Amino acid sequence: MTAAPEAVAGESTPVLSAVDVTKHFVVRGAVGDSSVVRAVENASVDLHEGRIVAVVGESGSGKTTLARMLARFYEPTTGEILLDGVPATGRATRTYHQDVQLIFQDPFGSLNPVHRVRHNLDRALRIHDRRLSASERRKAAIELLERVSLTPGEDYLDKFPHELSGGQRQRVVIARALAVGPRVLLGDEPISMLDVSIRLEMLNLLDRLRREDGLALLYITHDIASARYVCDDVVVMYAGEMVEGGPKEEVIARPAHPYTKLLVESSPDPDRVGTLSREELFDDAEALGEPPSLIEPPDGCRFHPRCPFAMERCRTQAPPRTDVGGGHWARCWLHQEGRAEEIGATTFAAALANRDKEVRS
Ligand code: SF4
Repeated sequence: MTAAPEAVAGESTPVLSAVDVTKHFVVRGAVGDSSVVRAVENASVDLHEGRIVAVVGESGSGKTTLARMLARFYEPTTGEILLDGVPATGRATRTYHQDVQLIFQDPFGSLNPVHRVRHNLDRALRIHDRRLSASERRKAAIELLERVSLTPGEDYLDKFPHELSGGQRQRVVIARALAVGPRVLLGDEPISMLDVSIRLEMLNLLDRLRREDGLALLYITHDIASARYVCDDVVVMYAGEMVEGGPKEEVIARPAHPYTKLLVESSPDPDRVGTLSREELFDDAEALGEPPSLIEPPDGCRFHPRCPFAMERCRTQAPPRTDVGGGHWARCWLHQEGRAEEIGATTFAAALANRDKEVRS
């Protein structure tokens, strides 16, 4: 196994890209009416060999829909998915999935429960290389299991999924994804259903795979702390839109969008004394409100109903993307108004409390 080159975003051609993709779903009602769910709007992301991009956001932010478009389980309503710079629509789905694999959140649902681990891996190996004999596939299955730290691999071949722990099942899912020799792994909350004690091990496994195999990885999570641990770059999604992105240390240490600031301040961080839960962080958690409906999202900046910094124009005009330096960007009017320093001047909770005091007075 050769070590991946030290890839740097921006200096290499992306293996996989989403270019300005939008996904709208038409939902039919019981009485023949219909509505449109605007799940993702004009999102772009590049995945490079040997690098991990984290997509962070609450549930309903559009991150899973984005991953499914990258995996070609959904075709974008507009925009394009490019593999090696070439539109993915020109590739047969079967050969596409030899390059791009998606790992789901629920490892139990991902494996066929009536078949042993051996069968689950064997099928993928046969798709990858039809010339392999049965004994070669068995040898390859053992090697795959050992690559994901299920050792000795032989001991796991005859187990059924229900005989494995959650962490072991997710390792088998990853081994099966690796069986086809992919260049891209898309992980949709791959650790969120696992026991807390083994999440770190799984993140270390993903990190090892990108270093040893040069895989390009997309790591989807609602947990900005785990993104900080494993990724190189972070993209933050809110209500179907990408609101901020850039190198992880930049984005997490100096959020340039109030929503990212909220995520960072309400996430556990051993380096930050006094990190609190959302309920503890906000005197009145209800003041924060809920994410908006994607059927009728707010006009202007979609975060404005919850944002303590919102101005009049935020309610009517969508903010443009502003580059803030070092590959770091954000979509927030504060940057256009020369008021960006307000984001770092106080905590989100204090800004929210201040806003509510002004409203009441
Ligand atoms: Fe808040 Fe306005 Fe920036 Fe949106 S554009 S995050 S509402 S300040």
